[in-house]
Amino acid sequence: MATALDIAKRNPNAAPLAVSDAARAAGQTALSIEKTAEMSVAAGAAPGGASLIGLTRDQLKDSLAAIGVAERELKMRVAQLWHWIYLRGAKDFSEMTNVGKELRARLAAAYTLTRPQVVSEQVSKDGTRKWLIRMASTGPLDKGAEIECVYIPEVDRGTLCVSSQVGCTLTCSFCHTGTQRLVRNLTSAEIVAQLIVARDSIGDWPDATPPEGAFVPTDGGRFVSNIVFMGMGEPLYNTDNVIDAIGVMSDNEGLGLSRRRITVSTSGVVPQMERLGAEANTMLAISLHAVRDELRDVLVPINRKYDIKQLLDACRAYPGLSNARRITFEYVMLKGVNDSDADARELVRLLRGIPAKINLIPFNPWPGSKYECSDWERIERFSEIVFRAGYASPVRTPRGRDILAACGQLKSETEKLRARARMMAEQGIGAEGVYAVGNGE
Ligand code: SF4
Repeated sequence: MATALDIAKRNPNAAPLAVSDAARAAGQTALSIEKTAEMSVAAGAAPGGASLIGLTRDQLKDSLAAIGVAERELKMRVAQLWHWIYLRGAKDFSEMTNVGKELRARLAAAYTLTRPQVVSEQVSKDGTRKWLIRMASTGPLDKGAEIECVYIPEVDRGTLCVSSQVGCTLTCSFCHTGTQRLVRNLTSAEIVAQLIVARDSIGDWPDATPPEGAFVPTDGGRFVSNIVFMGMGEPLYNTDNVIDAIGVMSDNEGLGLSRRRITVSTSGVVPQMERLGAEANTMLAISLHAVRDELRDVLVPINRKYDIKQLLDACRAYPGLSNARRITFEYVMLKGVNDSDADARELVRLLRGIPAKINLIPFNPWPGSKYECSDWERIERFSEIVFRAGYASPVRTPRGRDILAACGQLKSETEKLRARARMMAEQGIGAEGVYAVGNGE
């Protein structure tokens, strides 16, 4: 049985990245962060107008109608913009050579193609990239919501892990993101914009090239070939926007990702699961993590509302479920908590009859977490029991641990700043200083 416990597939062509000056100065030349950039790739709030980046076809149509484009032209104009924005990655209306000069001028006067601001980019020694992204401000009191987005390259695929909310209302006890309170849902445009930012950064547009030394798939396919909704937030607490975003990401005339390469992971929002399958037609992943309700009530507290039986019944009813479209059950391995042989056998019993894959995730510790990762031997033994029962049970290779980009480790700077602001307030220091320091402004 092949379990990829510590396989880090590296791009043979990738040149080693430089250790950052800051790290060297701190005497950390052997540390795992090979490159840390604090940078501002694009301006945040768009000067001159709203950005068209991430909009659905209907939203683009409304935007065009708002600047006086005639009803009879709208469909054709939307198709043109769609092509330039989502197929070509255009950053300026002047690139849109088949759009008349006069309309380009009107577009430029009213709108922009500004991306959200990349506050920082971190690159792990295994090629994983994590971006801290600041969304455009929604008003004078909003500095712009911050979320994290992670790119995980392998030789034959590139997976982008996107966020659906800023923070999370759920409080899964093993998850770092769960310690950050919910700030707001992301709009569908903000979800799509994460893919645009990633493709900008790794040069995944026609005529673009990846940054020197970057690890990207070498199989000739797209650099971003898969999307997983496993970043910050519970996607099915933001279902409308997630479904709209999937519509844009999978549109064949633009970003063109296969819906079978898009996976939505839920902690178990049972009432929304059927709708997701029917309307978005994506793959489904379930954050299961425990096989008994008493334990799952603690690890994944939404279980108190929708217990394991209700969750698995909803899985059995998931539209399109078949052996070719199996549900992935995520199971984080917590030492002495959920990793016994009896747990493995119960897992197999519970999933009987559901076309399933079981993804064992070595726990990624984060500062302040109360759990430890199961020993490798225990994980292998657990995996073997599951495998012998006929389920694929890959052990997820920990990726980007050194930059806190691995599963359950995401937590944006907004929250860290808030904590720092609290501390400084307690010490009588003004919060303005925090933002000046924290945001590098
Ligand atoms: S595991 Fe997902 S749903 Fe649970 S707290 Fe973390 S981000 Fe929220």
